[in-house]
Amino acid sequence: MSQILRALQAQQAAMVRTLGELVALESPSHEREAVNAVADYLVQAFGQLNAKVERLPQPAFGDHLRVSWGEGDRQILLLGHMDTVWSLGEIGERPFQVVQDGESGLLMGTGPGVFDMKGGLVIGLYAVATLRALNLAPAHRLVFLLNSDEECGSPTSRPAIEEEGLRSEYVLVLEPSRENALVTWRKGIGRFELEIHGRASHAGAAHEQGVSAVEELAHQILRLEALTDYNRGTTINVGVVQGGSKVNVRPAAAWAEIDLRVTTAEEGRRMTKAIRSIRPVNPDASLLVSGSMNRPPWEASAASLALFERARQVGAKLGMELWPAGTGGGSDGNFTAALQIPTLDGLGIVGNDAHAVTEWVDLGSMSRRAALLAELILALGQ
Ligand SMILES: [Zn+2]
Repeated sequence: MSQILRALQAQQAAMVRTLGELVALESPSHEREAVNAVADYLVQAFGQLNAKVERLPQPAFGDHLRVSWGEGDRQILLLGHMDTVWSLGEIGERPFQVVQDGESGLLMGTGPGVFDMKGGLVIGLYAVATLRALNLAPAHRLVFLLNSDEECGSPTSRPAIEEEGLRSEYVLVLEPSRENALVTWRKGIGRFELEIHGRASHAGAAHEQGVSAVEELAHQILRLEALTDYNRGTTINVGVVQGGSKVNVRPAAAWAEIDLRVTTAEEGRRMTKAIRSIRPVNPDASLLVSGSMNRPPWEASAASLALFERARQVGAKLGMELWPAGTGGGSDGNFTAALQIPTLDGLGIVGNDAHAVTEWVDLGSMSRRAALLAELILALGQ
């Protein structure tokens, strides 16, 4: 057995303890102080590994961390996020718990953000700690960027991710994974807002004088949703709507929030144009569309597949049978892959049900995945 895997398996209990501590530090993206408490925890943990740790303070979000080991020109970038989608207090409902599945005997962990992606942070931390403990120095300088705003589309961390990405030969993303999948492509994401203005009038006394923004919104929802084309991998989701004021008033205003997913940059441009050029059905209503692509698509590429192939070979030596997969969910890997930097994602913890109260992780996967990451880092230097 690989000495790295053996060393990590011996630390199973410590990894579970670390995961429990990180889950207990709740970190909703918009709670700056709470996310900073996770940063404090990681500054201390990485500091003990003699890493160079820099805080990148943010006024609106928690600080981002840039953690690095080693010197030289060649660099591997690791990406992980400290924020979660869960509000403060969720931990009261769902504290970190270790449960054994009666049927499979699988040791599962539950709790807010355990899967997406506190588990990935533990994997990154222990992979590096184990390389250090075994005196196995990678040929690359390692830079681990930990951001605080990923669940909001990474508005403040994107420049740092792209800058470090461009300095790197490879980017390894520690987002969670289902079973033995590693992620080699992701859809791009666009976000748009539609504002509709009509004219208010009395619903009984002057119905005909009003222009219903809600009725216009109904037309536009159907038109927008009809742009969905599963064959192309293009989807539109009118996810949030609002409109009107009182039941006896013709509604003067309505509003919608729209999510777009596409598989190619070209399709992103085509759909952006289609969304931004919608015209009112009722000529007396006015439409205002804002928004754009947020995360570029990570298109399947030879470079990412070649990197997956390296990981597959490393995994096979560890007794893992890995396969490539794509997903409609975005990650920070979209930014680096769109810059043509070989990127591999889904290297984090195994489990399922991200962003759902049923989220769970396979605790036994932590040592396997940390060994995969450490061995891959070494293999990429050969
Ligand atoms: Zn995530």
